[in-house]
Amino acid sequence: MDTPFPAPQEYFDAFIKTAQYVTRLTPKQDILTETGNALVRFYGAGFVGFMERMKGGELTCHHWVSPLDLSPHLFTTPEVREVIGEVLETGFFAVHRLEPEEIAVTFLPITWENVVTAVMLVAHRTPDPVPDDLLNSYLAIAGLVSTAVASAVVAFTTAAEKKEAEDSLREAREHLAFLVENTPVILYRLHASDELVTTFISENVRTELGYGPEEFAGDPGFFMSLVHPDDRQRVRSAVSGALDDGTGVAEYRFLGRDGAWRWMHDEMRVVPDGEAGPAGVLGYRIDISPRKRAEEELFGKNEELNAMNEELVSAQDELLQSNRDLRETEHELRKTGQYLDSLIDYANAPIIVWDPQFRITRFNRAFERLTGRTADDVIGRSLDVLFPDPRKRELMEMIRPTVRGEQWESVEIPIAHEKGEVRTVLWNSATLFAPDGRSVSAVIAQGQDITGRKKAEDALVAKNEELISMHEELRHNLDELSRRERELTESERRYRDLAESGRLLLSSETPEEIVQAICERVMAGLSCDVFFNYLIDETNGRMFLNASAGTSEQTAEEIGWLDLGVAVCGCVARDGERIVAEDIQNSPDERTDLVRSLGITAYACHPLVYQDRPIGTLSFGTRSRTRFTDEELGMMKAVTDLVAMAMARKRAEAALTEYMGRLRESNGELERFAYVASHDLKEPLRAVRSFAQLLERKYRGRIDSDADEYVRYIIDGGARMDALVNDLLEYSRVNSADKPFGPVDLDGVVRTVTDVLRERICEKGVEIEVADLPSVHGDPVQMTQLFQNLVSNAIKFGRENGPTITIGVTDRDGVYELFVRDNGIGIASEHFEKIFEIFKRLHTSEEYPGTGIGLAICRKIVERHGGRIWAESEEGAGSTFCFTIPKP
Ligand code: ADP
Repeated sequence: MDTPFPAPQEYFDAFIKTAQYVTRLTPKQDILTETGNALVRFYGAGFVGFMERMKGGELTCHHWVSPLDLSPHLFTTPEVREVIGEVLETGFFAVHRLEPEEIAVTFLPITWENVVTAVMLVAHRTPDPVPDDLLNSYLAIAGLVSTAVASAVVAFTTAAEKKEAEDSLREAREHLAFLVENTPVILYRLHASDELVTTFISENVRTELGYGPEEFAGDPGFFMSLVHPDDRQRVRSAVSGALDDGTGVAEYRFLGRDGAWRWMHDEMRVVPDGEAGPAGVLGYRIDISPRKRAEEELFGKNEELNAMNEELVSAQDELLQSNRDLRETEHELRKTGQYLDSLIDYANAPIIVWDPQFRITRFNRAFERLTGRTADDVIGRSLDVLFPDPRKRELMEMIRPTVRGEQWESVEIPIAHEKGEVRTVLWNSATLFAPDGRSVSAVIAQGQDITGRKKAEDALVAKNEELISMHEELRHNLDELSRRERELTESERRYRDLAESGRLLLSSETPEEIVQAICERVMAGLSCDVFFNYLIDETNGRMFLNASAGTSEQTAEEIGWLDLGVAVCGCVARDGERIVAEDIQNSPDERTDLVRSLGITAYACHPLVYQDRPIGTLSFGTRSRTRFTDEELGMMKAVTDLVAMAMARKRAEAALTEYMGRLRESNGELERFAYVASHDLKEPLRAVRSFAQLLERKYRGRIDSDADEYVRYIIDGGARMDALVNDLLEYSRVNSADKPFGPVDLDGVVRTVTDVLRERICEKGVEIEVADLPSVHGDPVQMTQLFQNLVSNAIKFGRENGPTITIGVTDRDGVYELFVRDNGIGIASEHFEKIFEIFKRLHTSEEYPGTGIGLAICRKIVERHGGRIWAESEEGAGSTFCFTIPKP
């Protein structure tokens, strides 16, 4: 069991308690024993004992008490004896430690009459040193013990010492008397009653308190009157306590003669009857004002100590905390330091440290890899060892500011590999300052090998340039495209113009006249400045200027006529070949003299061709360009063709109109002729036929048989001629008939026709089938004639056995399609057209009688009624004649 020191705040309590024990005892043995016990109890001492030197000079330990079972022999070693010897000799306390027992021993002198009579040992088992305040407390106790022992009845334990003790007793009495007179302890005696009647009080009361002993003895209330009124009850209690229990103690304030209050410690004990007199109360009073003050001081000090202690505790806590923090920090630092070290060493980035003299002091593995050099090789050498030879000076200049504290954030510095390869490294640096915070102690720099990146960057730059040029090319292409688009739009516009011009030209009745307007438009569209349109005048074989633009009226007049083969246009008109003249102002071609004189620089002339023959020219010229594009030339050709086409159409139309007119005229003439001829022939024919018949009647058989035959011929020929003349008359009258059109019932018409032809029908046994026919708008006589001709032909060219004729109608859109069908000899398809012409027959009159006019009349009638007629047939398989008549 350890006996550590009590806590400082317990010192005072321990002291008071110990003092109470010590001062109330009388026998020396009791004092010593109880002091030991008190120190053990209140101060936690592990051993308390008293060392005294015997007469023979021997040291004896007595009245020892040890809860730790420490043997007194521990304290009789020569070392301890020496300490004890010193204390006995000098009267000064001593503190000593016993190692290895870890015992702290305090040696306190016990004095009597200024002579050290014994040494009190107080031992604690603790590794700590004895606190000063505890030592003070112990010293005070030693003082108390000294006083108490001095005043106690000396008793000795050994018989051998008894004699000596009796001698000493006497001596002690003397001492006691002296003590009573000279010590501060006031002894007194009271009656053994509650009445505080002083029977004895020691003489030193005079020196201590200023009152004479007689003042106490004479007045039983004197003592109490000087006790502080607040403390009187305490005094009375102590007395009655003593009377009850044998002992009493009180501390109270007492008024000295000098008027000052003193603190008195008063202890009393009931004494039995003895040599000192009857039983009573024996006590002592001692002025404890200094002690009280010391106590108060001690208390104050204690408070202070407590506060200090608290401060200390909290300071200690703080210290502990900061110690922990420090440890942690230290640990962290150590860890960080190690971490940093390994970080630097094993970092992927090259790290280097140099001192202010540019000497390399640290060089990590990444740097070794970067340079192919080892740390051992470069450490201590100048930084320039790392730079490529030609740039060493320049790069060192660059580095210089770093040792003045400048820090890099990213600086590009090339590093040379041992084998010569130069790598580009991007640096950042930090300055390490000396503890003074001002001077630079080192520079640490970390690099990033950007060679690859640099290469990639270069490649990127190249790529970028490539891209830029591609971009430019693209832009160029785009420009080209948009230019072409513009051109296309332009050309589209031109073609639209052209198409419009074509439409205008082709629909115009007078293309020559609108050529002017159209060519002006085309000229503007082609950004040309002039155009000329020459046409050949067939009457004189020369060319006249039909239309032009871009020259003065006077010039136009001057060049108003041009001969074939003269100048560009003349040559083109003569040869029918295009001429494109470029850069005319510098051309030696004489044909271009005329256009050159007009300031023209490029000129294209195309022939206007009609029926493979040139009928004129169309030419365009510019004064601002030296040549035309293919597209422009194509456009000019297209316009020229359009103009030619329009003119050709116009000419064809004119020719047709002319032809039609002539035809109409000749037809009229023919009709007139046919009419006149047939009409005028009728009379002589009638005379011929009449006389021939007369001749036959009168002279038949009277001349000879030949004559009879000849006369017959004349009569037959006359009859045929008559038929012919009649048919011709009929034919010529179709168009001149003045009968107005009206509704014609075709059923009635066909009935009339079959009635007229009944004889022939019956004769040949023809079967006729007639459908319901509509009513039409027309000439009833001509309709009858039409049907009669067709039915008559069907009978004539009908089959011999079982001839049939079918008459019917098909309702078509807007017209009636009527037909007359037979099952006769049929017609070869090549004759389908011919048979409708006048006098055209496929047979002789011997085979089939006829004039070849019947179908011609039919066509005329149908056409007069606004319809058309045609034949459908196969040889030997019958024929169908169809015609249309518009619906009324
Ligand atoms: P014609 O009957 O007086 O000869 P047409 O003008 O009526 O004159 O007929 C012209 C020719 O057409 C006839 O000569 C005949 O060869 C042919 N033709 C007309 N109608 C028929 C028909 N129904 N069948 C066969 N041939 C016919």
